[in-house]
Amino acid sequence: MNSIQLTNDYVTPTYNRMPIVVDKAEGYYIYDKNGQKYLDFTAGIGVNALGYNHPEWVKATQNQLSKLQHISNLYYTEPSAEVARKLCLHTQMEHALFVNSGAESNEVAIKVARKYGHQQDEQKHDILTLTNSFHGRTVATLSATGQESFHQFFGPFTEGFDYVEANNIEALHQKVTDQVCAIMIEIVQGEGGVVPLDADFIKEIADTCKQKDILLIIDEVQTGIGRTGKLFAYEHYDIQPDIVTAAKGLGNGLPIGVAILGHKVKDVLQAGDHGSTFGGNPVASAGANVVLDTVTDDFLETIEEKSAYLKQELEGLDGVESVSGLGLMIGVTFKHEKAKDIVLRAKEEGVLFLTAKDKLRLLPPLIIDKAAIDEALACLKKILKTEQMEVLK
Ligand SMILES: *Cc1c(COP(=O)(O)O)cnc(C)c1O
Repeated sequence: MNSIQLTNDYVTPTYNRMPIVVDKAEGYYIYDKNGQKYLDFTAGIGVNALGYNHPEWVKATQNQLSKLQHISNLYYTEPSAEVARKLCLHTQMEHALFVNSGAESNEVAIKVARKYGHQQDEQKHDILTLTNSFHGRTVATLSATGQESFHQFFGPFTEGFDYVEANNIEALHQKVTDQVCAIMIEIVQGEGGVVPLDADFIKEIADTCKQKDILLIIDEVQTGIGRTGKLFAYEHYDIQPDIVTAAKGLGNGLPIGVAILGHKVKDVLQAGDHGSTFGGNPVASAGANVVLDTVTDDFLETIEEKSAYLKQELEGLDGVESVSGLGLMIGVTFKHEKAKDIVLRAKEEGVLFLTAKDKLRLLPPLIIDKAAIDEALACLKKILKTEQMEVLK
């Protein structure tokens, strides 16, 4: 039977899918069942950082798969211990707690923040997030998500969240009460439309947190692991978070999530306070080790170079109105076209893009090279040109 028909018949329709049955992939190209080839500027929504079939990643995960696939967290394993060491050394933080997804890593951050607050004052349980943010789809992380559209149907929602208008310092100070235990932010709002926060605003949040013993949580689920040109996007600014969450790019194709905990909160959770059956899975962790060993300072520099080139060329395209984002997380608006129409047209031309709100979102594998960037640019140029000719007709 046809996979599209089967999916439509038997899988809950919670996604708007493209009519492409993906069969295999290599590097930054995806192939469908008919052998049709697509250039991938989506990276599994920021997951396939090293692209597809990265030789060392495949080797490490295959080796681990043939040795030990899973063991409970009642025992120790080497791969997750190594991932934790690398993440802590890099961030100058102290502990890592492993889960399986971005939402779960944010759940950990929320639990740590609540318990930390509770230890000081039972009323100190509020968490501030930003308007237009996205933190996940569990009930608690939906509450953390500062978009009204996510706050329907599934109530009653988790209490104790409030939302500050992004980049509004005055609004921030109005919302910071004695009951606030943490502020959680994305450095570049991803699902919210590839919106980078202002440096001043980030600094003000970090300073406020420090002064008032409020935890600073950075959701790096999309921005982390090299996506913005630093291993973590917060490193573009002179700030030290208390909790950093990561998932997508760290997994590179297998599910993993992590909350990295700084000095203040390293021992807040004790035995029994949290757990995850699959958390720290040895196969996913073996892959994550390759990701972390590959995303070196030199590798990060290439991301900055590719980003500068891509942004400059996008800005020069006739019909482009604005370009936003950091590193290889880029949003584009157009003078006339809607981003979702561009995505459909690009698919016909053999290039896959994403949208985020009203923007075209470019999230290529980090291993993308100049030739592939030029291919994507040529596709956009062709679409914009034919659209303009339509307008002139
Ligand atoms: C994708 C995303 C999440 C949710 O991650 P899942 O793995 O889908 O649970 C959370 N926060 C941000 C910033 C994200 O981009």
